Amino acid sequence: MANRLDGKTAVVFGVASDTSIAWAIAQELAAQGAKIILGYQFRYHSRVKDLAPTLPNLVAYTRCDIMKDDEAQAFFGGLKTPIDIVVHAIAFAPATAFQGRLVDTTQDDFSLALQVSAHSLTKIMKHSAPLMTNGGSAIALTYLGGQRVCTNYKLMGVAKAALEAYVRELAMDLGPQKIRVNAISAGPIKTLAASGISDFDLMLDYNKSVAPLRDNVTQQDVAKCAAFLGSDDAKMITGQTIFVDAGYSIVGVPPLA
Ligand code: NAD
Repeated sequence: MANRLDGKTAVVFGVASDTSIAWAIAQELAAQGAKIILGYQFRYHSRVKDLAPTLPNLVAYTRCDIMKDDEAQAFFGGLKTPIDIVVHAIAFAPATAFQGRLVDTTQDDFSLALQVSAHSLTKIMKHSAPLMTNGGSAIALTYLGGQRVCTNYKLMGVAKAALEAYVRELAMDLGPQKIRVNAISAGPIKTLAASGISDFDLMLDYNKSVAPLRDNVTQQDVAKCAAFLGSDDAKMITGQTIFVDAGYSIVGVPPLA
């Protein structure tokens, strides 16, 4: 039987370790037939060089710090058309942004967090769109903190709100080229990025106790949704933020006794 993503090529940003959501997505897209190109930050080279060759349909893994224009030019300049799927699983805010009160956020921390975590999607799409000659699907990773206050998420909540707005605006901008742009809002998952959030283990316990499905999501749960969004089965879905969070985001008042 044909695989859902046979014949498609996916560019995946955000693999830093085997716990990365991007790694689960790359594995799932590959399992469903897509060829995979990884763009990664060189600081994670020692891990990526071991992980990447285990992907069945790997085309290349190439360094690409999205804040470095020379790396981005070299990365995209080396790609062949068409690209069909682009995965943005990139976020960063300096540690200082999580200390103290939000009201003390510096302009530098704001600028860096927003550039890496939100504007990078637009940078990536500027490079990718001309290569998506058959149209395609871009998928960004976001979190509930972009829509509601989630304790300790602070400046990253602001960055995710910007990212989700970019998803909608880019969906409108790129729609005429049949490029769809969506976000997956994942429930909390223990990864390197999550280790920067205080009380993360308590958050996992709380989410599990409150979510309608009484469970936490895994990287694989998110990856399955990404594979759907990347496929032609989702060809009329764009501009959306889709929650993969065991239903946590719908809860107003959880069971109190
Ligand atoms: P992770 O640490 O494995 O991945 C974060 C990635 O961002 C890393 O691969 C890192 O190299 C990349 N990155 C940071 N700055 C970059 C830059 N300048 N250029 C290129 N890449 C850069 O953690 P993760 O949890 O898998 O995070 C992936 C995405 O999922 C992030 O957008 C994160 O906010 C989002 N997300 C995570 C959770 C969670 O609970 N873990 C929940 C919802 C959304």
